[in-house]
Amino acid sequence: MSHRLVQIAEAVRDRVRPRQFQSLFLFVTSRCNSRCRTCFYFDKLNSRDDLTLDQIRRIAETAPPFRKLWLSGGEPTLRPELGEIVTMFARRNGVRNVNLPTNGLVSAKLFAAVDEIRAGAPETALDVNFSLDGLANAHDAIRGVPNNFAVTLSTLAEASRRYRGDRKVRLNVASVITRENYSEILRLGLHMLENAEADGHYFEAVRGQAPDPSLKQMSETDLAALHRQLMSLHRKHADRLFAHLPAGIRHLAQVYYLGNLRLHFDLHEQNFTAPRTWPMRCTAGETALVVDHNGKFRAYELRGIAGDLADYGYDTRAALASPAMRQEVSAVQADQCWCTHSCFIQDSSKFSPRVQLFTIPYAWWRQRWDRLENAPLSEIERFRALELH
Ligand code: SF4
Repeated sequence: MSHRLVQIAEAVRDRVRPRQFQSLFLFVTSRCNSRCRTCFYFDKLNSRDDLTLDQIRRIAETAPPFRKLWLSGGEPTLRPELGEIVTMFARRNGVRNVNLPTNGLVSAKLFAAVDEIRAGAPETALDVNFSLDGLANAHDAIRGVPNNFAVTLSTLAEASRRYRGDRKVRLNVASVITRENYSEILRLGLHMLENAEADGHYFEAVRGQAPDPSLKQMSETDLAALHRQLMSLHRKHADRLFAHLPAGIRHLAQVYYLGNLRLHFDLHEQNFTAPRTWPMRCTAGETALVVDHNGKFRAYELRGIAGDLADYGYDTRAALASPAMRQEVSAVQADQCWCTHSCFIQDSSKFSPRVQLFTIPYAWWRQRWDRLENAPLSEIERFRALELH
């Protein structure tokens, strides 16, 4: 089979899959050097009961094969054995993609982990997501660390130099939209397009019980208006991200990339203040498992604890098959559970042929009319200047 046919076959296989375990959300540490007012995990940070390396090894040994490891915490890079842990999951469980969020404050630890993963698991793709929640003042104020914005940008710039040309390492920016940064999110996106070599910039409406609940005071209409503007930035990133692909495959990749992002925005808007049923069933607890820093496990990170891995000898299969987890999966369905968390929207959408074959392509078609409308003229001009590059 030609290389191009292999690529298309892989893309189709990736789109429609049987419903089976595919994602582990692992809080590798509770340690954190930030004090974010948006943090839904704030009451568990910097505790002394992180899983040991042996316990994590046992989790890997007993987990079924799966594709995607979503790291969380705490600040994942503060886990000294981060590189070893990721490499272990890649080798034992066949993990193909790793999502590594970071505040970018300690570049040496980040690069040590990425280098170890690249050396130990060269076939595994790594998305490093740098958190930026506003321009300098807003970002530092939301995350409680002076000079954080400048340090994170410097780490991102260094990472771009270090991993330039390595297609297995994608460097992204992740921003949480709140009442406080709402008015400058578009400017932040433009700033990153103009000044940083990020592969993608992703936006998530603030979720969960944040220490500062006032940050959630936005309307669905405001969020929708901002999303329409941000789609222009996504299209620019998509142009750059897939520029290396042959034309037909590039178009297919853009349809799914932009269609997915539009679908995520739709669900963020629809579920921001009240629940609205997703176009696919949530597969949390079946295809995905969340393991807290101390081994407590859940179907989804904002749902209650379903059990403690310690009670199952850190046997992941036993926890997934446990009556408590079965009951939790039924509860997710019975509650018609909903959320705005893109990771779970993404995970669940992979198992719905209808969403993959119709909803996402239709969302791609609709997003073509999302424009920078109503943005200040200065920002529209900055965006147009980017088009000339
Ligand atoms: S959001 Fe992340 S970086 Fe911020 S305090 Fe929570 S765990 Fe730390």
